[in-house]
Amino acid sequence: MQFRDLKKQYEVLKEEMDAAIGQVLTESNYISGRQVAELEETLAAYVGVRHCIACANGTDALTLALMAWGIGEGDAVFVPDFTFFSSAETVAYEGATPVFTDILEDTFNMDPDSLERAIKAVLAEGKLTPRAIVAVDLFGLPADYDRIREIADRYGLYILEDAAQGFGGEYHGRRAGSFGDISTTSFFPAKPLGCYGDGGAVFTDCDEWAELIRSYRVHGKGSDKYDNVRIGMNSRLDTIQAAVLQVKFRAFTEYELADTDALAAEYAKGLREFVKIPTIPEGLGSGWAQYSILLKNREERDAVQAHLKEHGVPSMIYYQRGMHQQTAFRECCLYGETFPVTTDVCGRVLSLPLSPYLTREDQQRIIGLIREKTGADA
Ligand SMILES: *Cc1c(COP(=O)(O)O)cnc(C)c1O
Repeated sequence: MQFRDLKKQYEVLKEEMDAAIGQVLTESNYISGRQVAELEETLAAYVGVRHCIACANGTDALTLALMAWGIGEGDAVFVPDFTFFSSAETVAYEGATPVFTDILEDTFNMDPDSLERAIKAVLAEGKLTPRAIVAVDLFGLPADYDRIREIADRYGLYILEDAAQGFGGEYHGRRAGSFGDISTTSFFPAKPLGCYGDGGAVFTDCDEWAELIRSYRVHGKGSDKYDNVRIGMNSRLDTIQAAVLQVKFRAFTEYELADTDALAAEYAKGLREFVKIPTIPEGLGSGWAQYSILLKNREERDAVQAHLKEHGVPSMIYYQRGMHQQTAFRECCLYGETFPVTTDVCGRVLSLPLSPYLTREDQQRIIGLIREKTGADA
């Protein structure tokens, strides 16, 4: 059994996929071929923003957003403690200071109260200028944008939505990728919408930032191809990946997202009496990058994971530790926050196999194995 079944997906899409890749080879425009611009247009329309700028990966997408805002030394950027390393790495890479916030146990997303405490602590200290909030749509579920926007407005901060895991997620009728002043996603193969290598995209409604990001993406190019007007990077999405994504996007919107949602509902039905299942607040929808459950404690989590493994079922621990516990961030100022929720969740979270191609039989087997280890007679 696969944790995320990319092989099965290729088998299903093979004919269409091989033709799309073959077409790129025939046209031989490997960089900036027409498929890239077509994909950008499709994704912008789906997400509901004016601009989509494809780039080399989700990490670069975050960096491009920070560059467009000129974020650097002396700036504070608020990042949830429970996320993938990139969400904070990119901030530090630009020379700014990531300031971590705790999360909410129910949604695994940024805790707005902890965010506001962190902003106040940074202001009280008076050394750094608060500039932006990286709101992560963890495991596919959009963060609490009503409250985060209210806080961002109160303190004059930008929201950078890290929707690397969030593509396909919904928040009161709007789609993930549209909640930030700038939003980003990743097309890493295992993400909800993945390509066959690295890829990413930036989304924004702002014409000026979009133009800046298009320039930064290609060595700070100006309108004259041979005059570079700023220092940028080389971060394009290549044409083959764009063609792959065009095929996968159709499958994603036609049935994959709906099928994954149905499988998530089946997990919920089978497991809710035994473990803490993911909470999807009213009016929200998840892109289901992960199906992550909470066990009672570390012992139970480790026992369930070992039991699954014994029976050939892969599972993952996203994440083993918070950002503030990463060696690279050992010197970070924590502003008095102790991250009780992140620390607790790291000790008992477990992500289960999930993809649109997971069979009902395999899923029932997984549910049965978890019930064996967590039921009254476990
Ligand atoms: C995967 C991921 C990224 C980085 O995306 P890459 O394409 O791997 O660079 C950033 N943030 C989060 C939350 C992610 O899960």
